[in-house]
Formats: sequence, C-alpha cells, structure tokens
Amino acid sequence: MRLFNCPVCRNLLYFENVVCTQCGHQIGFAPEILSIVALQDDVTENRIPVGASAAYRKCKNYSEHNVCNWLVAESDNEEYCRACRLNDTIPNLATEGNLSLWHTMEKEKRRLIYSVIQLGLPLTGKEQDTVAGLSFSFLSDSPAQFSERERVMTGHSQGHITINLAEADPAERERMRHQMAEPYRTILGHIRHESGHYYWDRLIANSPLLEACRAVFGDETRDYSQALQSHYASGPPENWQNDYVSSYASSHAWEDWAESFAHYLHIVDTLETAYQFDLQVRPRAAKSEGYEADVEFNPYNQSDFKIIIEHWLPLTYALNSLNRSMGHSHAYPFVLSPKVIAKLEFVHQSIRAC
Ligand SMILES: [Zn+2]
Ligand SMILES: [Zn+2]
Ligand SMILES: [Zn+2]
Repeated sequence: MRLFNCPVCRNLLYFENVVCTQCGHQIGFAPEILSIVALQDDVTENRIPVGASAAYRKCKNYSEHNVCNWLVAESDNEEYCRACRLNDTIPNLATEGNLSLWHTMEKEKRRLIYSVIQLGLPLTGKEQDTVAGLSFSFLSDSPAQFSERERVMTGHSQGHITINLAEADPAERERMRHQMAEPYRTILGHIRHESGHYYWDRLIANSPLLEACRAVFGDETRDYSQALQSHYASGPPENWQNDYVSSYASSHAWEDWAESFAHYLHIVDTLETAYQFDLQVRPRAAKSEGYEADVEFNPYNQSDFKIIIEHWLPLTYALNSLNRSMGHSHAYPFVLSPKVIAKLEFVHQSIRAC
C-alpha cells in the first residue's frame, strides 16, 4: 500500500485517513489518480478540491455514513465510488452495531479494490455487466439461524461475493479461527480469497491458460461439494505443506487457486508498503544468503516474480519477529514450499497476461 501526502501541507497520510492531522483539511482518496485529494469545503459545497486538477465529490457512503473515504470524479454520474458501487446488499443499519461492522468491512474491501486497480485487473460491477461483473453482499445471520449449517456462508458465486458480517467482530472471528484450526483469519484474507474465485473465472476459465492452470493446481472439474465434504471429514493429506499454502487449499483446485491468489495479493501489497517505507532487512546474525531484502521496486509493476519472492521471504522473517516482540503472533504464519512458490508464480503470470 502506498503512503500519501496531504496536497495542502505535505503531511504524511495513510490510505484510511479522512482528515489531515496537521492542517485539518478533510481528505479523500481518488481511485482514478490513486491519490489523496483535499476537500476545501466539506460542509457547504462538498466538492471543491485543493491541489487537484479535476473536481471530486465524496462518495455517498462517505457523506451519508462515513464508512468510505473515497471520492467520485465530478464528471462521473455515479453517487458511489468505484468500491461502493459494487455493493449489492449492505447490512441493516437499523440494527445496533451494524454500522461499525460494515465500516470495518468496507475498509478492507477498499484495500482489495486498490490492489485490483494497481494490478490492472478487470473491474466491472454487476450493474454494468450482470454476467461478468463483480458484486459484494455483507449479510448477517438471522437470529433464527442458530445452527452452523444455516449460517450465512462467506463465499463466491458467479461474480457475487458474500461475506458474513460477523467476521468483522474480532471475538467471533477468533472463535471461528480456533474452530477451523487456522493460523490466520482476517477480513482482508477472506476478501482476497473470494476475489480469487472471481478472477479465476475472468482470467482462467475459457482462456488459453486453463490447461496450464490444471497442470499446476490440479483438475478443477473434480466434484466440488464432494471434495469439500471429504476435506472436512478426513482433513488434509499428510505433508500437505509440501504442496499447498494452507490446509484448506488442499480441498480442491479452485480453493488452491483462491488461496494462492490471496497470498499473491498479501505479498505484493505488503511489499509495496515496505517499498514505501524504504525498508531494508539485513539481519546482523545471518551468515548465509537469502535473509536480506532491500525493497527498492514497486512490486505492482515488477514483472520478474523471482525478485518479488526473493524479497518477500526475508521481509516475513523480520515482520514475524517484530510481531513477536510486541506479543502478537506471526504476521505471516505460512511456509512457502517450492511447489507453492510455483503456484504463486502462475498467479503472477496470469495476472500480468490479462
Ligand atoms: Zn494537511
Ligand atoms: Zn465509497
Ligand atoms: Zn474459496
């Protein structure tokens, strides 16, 4: 993720900021220029930018609910920004607590959309293209749905991504993580994973890459629900770490791709953050190669996957150690085997080919 400057006072700003802490200007992110724009008068006019060539106004979810900090170009007829216009169903805001849970969801969703724009992936909403478009629903379990099987299932179906709103509640997410015996469970992880299913349909299905994809990830025509059932009944194969990035990735080729796609986004976006901070990793105790990284490139533009992965591994060692020093668990609790790295490279090539 990029770092930003306030266009008025040059103060350092972050992706999620809504106001400059130094000069007090209200700000917003303009996805067309991937920059932060300052709004001169956010109360009366709501649309005069400072230091921007084109005029912008706040996304409706910014002005009405404060769950978004993105802007819409004045020339655009849409009320919602590029991220919010993908929403199909939002939570019932009459229910106490839902506004804050939804806000949490939207923050993570915008990180996905940022990466999608950076990678030049197709981004069309269902309103424009009911077949190939993308949409999101944030749904809550109804009180009547007391059994696990009746719960809102986070998942993807034909361009439609559904996320269970409860995942925005840290206590509930931790309970699920424990129940599923996962080392890592985040909203951003969910959103990146489900978008992986969507982009499999866009990049791989009916494309010349399908055969090569099968060679790397296995046969996706295998019965999906049966595969999942057997995964939950008997668990992953022994030594799954040699072939898969996660236990769940071993359940079916589609899940393997979606998990790998999510990891690819974890990697490029975290590396971009490292690049923006000009991070260099050079462990004093390391006496062999493979532990050093100096992220001096924008990973979103890096065509050589080898360079990406060579920088990623040392960065995760440092990242995990920093987290442990703060009493947190590892930021990136995964082992990337050579086969998994080959899968990540395939995702990289597929994205760059689109
Ligand atoms: Zn400022
Ligand atoms: Zn928005
Ligand atoms: Zn999945």
